[in-house]
Amino acid sequence: MKITSISAVYPNYKHTVRSWRSHLWQIVIKVETDTGHVGWGSGGGGMASLQIVNGHFSEIIINREINSIEDISDTWDFLYQESIPYGRKGIAIMALSGVDLALYDVLGKAQSKPVAELLGTINKHTIRCYATGPDTDWYAEMGFSAQKLSHRWTGEKSIDEAVNSASNARAILGPDAKIMFDVYMSWNVNVTLQMSKILADLNIYWFEDVLTPDELKKISELRMKIKPINMAGGEHEFTEHGFGDIARAGSYDIWQPDITWCGGITAGIRIMDIAKTVNAIVVPHRGGEPWGLHLIAASECKNFAELVMGSRTTPNDEMWLAGPEPSDGHLELNDKSGFGVNPNFELL
Ligand SMILES: [Mg+2]
Repeated sequence: MKITSISAVYPNYKHTVRSWRSHLWQIVIKVETDTGHVGWGSGGGGMASLQIVNGHFSEIIINREINSIEDISDTWDFLYQESIPYGRKGIAIMALSGVDLALYDVLGKAQSKPVAELLGTINKHTIRCYATGPDTDWYAEMGFSAQKLSHRWTGEKSIDEAVNSASNARAILGPDAKIMFDVYMSWNVNVTLQMSKILADLNIYWFEDVLTPDELKKISELRMKIKPINMAGGEHEFTEHGFGDIARAGSYDIWQPDITWCGGITAGIRIMDIAKTVNAIVVPHRGGEPWGLHLIAASECKNFAELVMGSRTTPNDEMWLAGPEPSDGHLELNDKSGFGVNPNFELL
């Protein structure tokens, strides 16, 4: 099967974007082939990413044969090489991620297999999820047994906010629940050490993004000092090259590549291989979305997938339809071809 066209669009999200984080600047990529099969992928990087896909990748990718996951890997290497002058990390790789996922989707459809099956043996059909957001009551009603709380350091009063939110989650979700903190690079070394002591009784599973991704050495030193809390991060890192740096620095117990940003499934597989060499646990960022879910199902990723749930009352754009819905805090992989989701054309 040959690629005949590839294109990217930025969806008309209906709910106003106050910051890039609301929709994470996700774009939609479509690949068409000479067999009539069409594949869809999700990438990051917003409007700038569209320029890379529509202005560069779309010209050089035409007529490439895609008949196996090795062909996708070769195409990945080709696009990576061609984009080195402006790429290697950031938006170029977010664009490449979406192309890679669209190619996986179309290959799955051509072979009538879920992407997870293309990757080998499916070892997880039912995947435990954790809810990201503040609405503990709602998550408990939905059967979740794990929650990731958001926290920002804004001075001493932030300590009480962290203790209160974690105590509340522990009380509602119970003694066996997993509770995590994502602090989005707002802590520093001292705050991280202080929080590890103050929260010790609440049995926190991980601290995420305590410092910036440019401070790998400092993070690796801190990692040893906050045990038994795990150090997590990696959503802002890219490809096997970036995760190679993380491995060498020994920064994280838990790696969180975002499959729609770090280079797609192709990069995800390569990152898994590196993770094994340092016994890191891989829990993909937003792993409950179709793109991460198939990798989790067919790899040695932990059986633990993130669903960004927000609050019961938060309006939400549904960009991808027909995917599995969480039930009792779990997602069930279905046997639909490709990633098993369709774009919501109302938003395109
Ligand atoms: Mg995060």
